[in-house]
Amino acid sequence: MIHNYDDNCIFCKIIKGEIPSYTVYEDDDVKAFLDISQGTPGHTLVVPKTHVKDIFDYDADLAATVFAKIPLIARAVKASNPDIKGMNIVNNNGEVAYQSVFHSHIHIVPRYTSNDDFAMIFKDNSKNYDEAAYTKIQDAIKAQF
Ligand code: AMP
Ligand code: ZN
Repeated sequence: MIHNYDDNCIFCKIIKGEIPSYTVYEDDDVKAFLDISQGTPGHTLVVPKTHVKDIFDYDADLAATVFAKIPLIARAVKASNPDIKGMNIVNNNGEVAYQSVFHSHIHIVPRYTSNDDFAMIFKDNSKNYDEAAYTKIQDAIKAQF
């Protein structure tokens, strides 16, 4: 496969081997390496070897190729440590959504206890919504396909 790189991108440099990484898995299409922050032990990033900025930048073939690898890598991370009880799989898109490296990546975050060093909050705003409000949002999204 021919990969497109961005010369200024830190993850492209990791993919090309110009910057070191703790690589745990690699094939023609993806590379998986330890996130330097280790939010929880085993925190791993999966990146496409082709430079795509965010989820909105994938075509269907690249998405199929990259996302198909996630269960394989997630299983390996889980199997690597018997203390891993669960896993969050997170993909941030845009600065407002906490993306800081603009080469798309999927975080694999092993979970050990409910108060380890990873948290995710979905507030329940359902009391603010009636049928008309849900339908308006539903219709706006459906109109985009
Ligand atoms: P995000 O905030 O979703 O864009 O995630 C970017 C992640 O990349 C952060 O969790 C960083 O800790 C991680 N990161 C940045 N530079 C490196 C690097 N050189 N090697 C490994 N992980 C990195
Ligand atoms: Zn890149």
